Order: sequence, then structure tokens, then C-alpha cells
Amino acid sequence: MAIFKDIASLRQWRQSLRGPLALVPTMGNLHDGHLALVKLAATRAEQVLVSIYVNPLQFGPREDFASYPRTLDRDLQRLHEAGCQTVFTPDDGLMYPRGRQDISIVTPPRSLSKVLCGASRPGHFAGVCTVLSKLLHMVAPELLILGEKDYQQLRIVQQMVADLNLNVQVLPGPLQREADGLAYSSRNTFLNLAERQVAPLLAETLFDLARRSTSDAKVSDLAAMGWERLEQAGFLPEYLELRNAQTLQSLALPQPGARWFAAARLGQTRLIDNVVIS
Ligand code: AMP
Repeated sequence: MAIFKDIASLRQWRQSLRGPLALVPTMGNLHDGHLALVKLAATRAEQVLVSIYVNPLQFGPREDFASYPRTLDRDLQRLHEAGCQTVFTPDDGLMYPRGRQDISIVTPPRSLSKVLCGASRPGHFAGVCTVLSKLLHMVAPELLILGEKDYQQLRIVQQMVADLNLNVQVLPGPLQREADGLAYSSRNTFLNLAERQVAPLLAETLFDLARRSTSDAKVSDLAAMGWERLEQAGFLPEYLELRNAQTLQSLALPQPGARWFAAARLGQTRLIDNVVIS
């Protein structure tokens, strides 16, 4: 397995490649959702590079940067078993050699980045766009694979790539779920046993709302119903909204292709999920 920790050796390897390269950026603590992206990448590109980096720039001061699960040895083992041979593991010194205070930042459009998760996480998507644009410049892949689990992130990065004329194709990978419906997430490891049993209700609620989102349904009534259901189960909902999948603008009436988005706390853990209406 080749594990790159510096830019020079990464670029040397990059220049030796013949076919297209796909980058799968991650923050580690890899689960089956990540591995599905790696498999998807392998069907579309000759070479797959997985990056593992917990990016401090995208965490707010009161968020879980310090406690975010870091499991590098296990991650490398899982990637090896999945047939992925090349990994990029930069550290803070490589990513932010001058620190993070007074550096160039990529600011995404307000319409996409101030809603949903952006409303409660100021600076989060600028942190994501900045680290991803750095990774794209370091790796220069033909393909960038992103999961629909973080759908807002996907839309924002697609827009960044278009706005800045970045020379990469963004390929979305479908959201992967546990057998009981809970979306795979590195943060699921924070859930205790009781919370883990309740957690699938978030997805269940979204699927139920998606089924009920017929053309004559009133979105505000559906949202209120879902909100109450989540609260009764012990969640502290942050948002539960139907939005246009391209613009992320909120909708008063369902339209084909729109998505229900939710963020909710369960104990100390913040879960997010989204479901498309058919
Ligand atoms: P993260 O390590 O959480 O930053 O995620 C790295 C990539 O994996 C992002 O593109 C995520 O959208 C994607 N991802 C995370 N969880 C899932 C999932 N359950 N299904 C599909 N993709 C996922």
C-alpha cells in the first residue's frame, strides 16, 4: 500500500499514472458508506486515491473536532481489504503551514451555504471548500467522488467546481444505510446503545414524509408532523425541510426531485440525513 504524506511524492506518483485518477476525500473512521464510494470510484477510474484528513477549518469552536474518531490503522486495513492501494494522509503542517488564522479562503455562494447546516455552522462550508480546493490542487484528479449523505456539501462543491472552472468531474455516490435505515456516519460511533436503537427513526421519518409528499400535500403540515414525531422519540430537531435539490431553496409545495433534509441531535450526537421524493 502506498501512503503519501507529502506533496512531492504524491505529485511524482500522480505524474507516473497513465489512466484517469479518482479522489475520494474522507475524514477517516471509514465505514461501508465510504467504501461504497471507493468501489464506485474504481468502476470509473483506473486509479483511486483516498484522502484521510480531519480538517480543523470546517469545525466550529464548540464542535467535536477534538473528539472526532481517528482510527487510521483500522482505516488502512479496511481500504487494503477493499482493494484500495493508495492513500493520502496529510497533517495540519502540510495543509496549513502558516496556521489557519490569516489564510486565503474559498467562500461558497450564500444561497447554498447559509441554509440547512450552514445556518447553525457558520464557516463550515467555507472550511470544506477551502480544504477540498487544496486537495484538488495537490492531487489533480480527473474525478472527485462525493456522497449524497452530505447532499448540501455535494451541491456546494459542484457549484465551486463550476464557478472556479476547476478541471475535475464531480461524481455523486448514493447514500448508504445500515440494515435498519440509519445512514452510515463516522459520528454514529458516538451513539450509546439506547440512542442507537432510536436513531433509525430519523430516516424512517424522512421516508414517510417523502411518501406523503404528493402534489396536493402542504409541506408545512408535513414538516410539523415529522418534527413532532422526532421530538417524541427523544430527538432535538435542528431543521426538517423540503428543498429544491439544485438550488436548495425551500418549497411550500412538493415538486419531483425535491429532497427532505433533516438535522437532529440525539444526546450529544448530531445526525443528518436526506431523502428524495419520487
Ligand atoms: P466524511 O468522512 O464524513 O467527511 O465523508 C467523506 C465522504 O463520504 C463524503 O463525500 C460523504 O458524503 C461520504 N459519505 C459519508 N457517509 C456516507 C453514506 N452513509 N453514504 C454515502 N456516502 C457517505
